[in-house]
This record gives sequence, structure tokens and C-alpha cells, in this order.
Amino acid sequence: MDKKEIKAVHDDDLETLLSNLNILNDVKSGKKKCRFCGCVIDLDNLEAIFPDSGDIKFVCSNPECLKQFYLFLEKENV
Ligand SMILES: [Zn+2]
Repeated sequence: MDKKEIKAVHDDDLETLLSNLNILNDVKSGKKKCRFCGCVIDLDNLEAIFPDSGDIKFVCSNPECLKQFYLFLEKENV
């Protein structure tokens, strides 16, 4: 996944995207957590994903997390 390749996720292609990244099963089985608040990510509350330190991080739909996500993007200059 390219560093510039930030994905804002929409319901339609969410499962396809996660499947392409080989993380769909992890999300479905509750293994992934929000990068900012630490809540368990599922298909309903997943708002965005982004690459960080060679890993893929998740952002939940909590407005506070989205705010932090955008601050993070500015700081990282991506
Ligand atoms: Zn969160």
C-alpha cells in the first residue's frame, strides 16, 4: 500500500478493499482497533484506513477520531 494511498472508505467497496489488502477477515473477527481511541473496528464503524509504519491503521467513525486523523495527516504531510 502506497503511503499516499489514503482511503476514505465507502460501504459499497469496503469489503472488496479490505479483501484486496488481506485484512477483511481480521476486521470481521474483531482483531483490528481504531488507531486513536482503541475501540474494536468492525464493518459498521470503519471510517478510513491508512498506512503507518509499514502497517495498516484504522479510524473509526467517532468524530473525535476523525479530527485526530486529519491532524495526523497534516503532521505527516501525506
Ligand atoms: Zn476511534
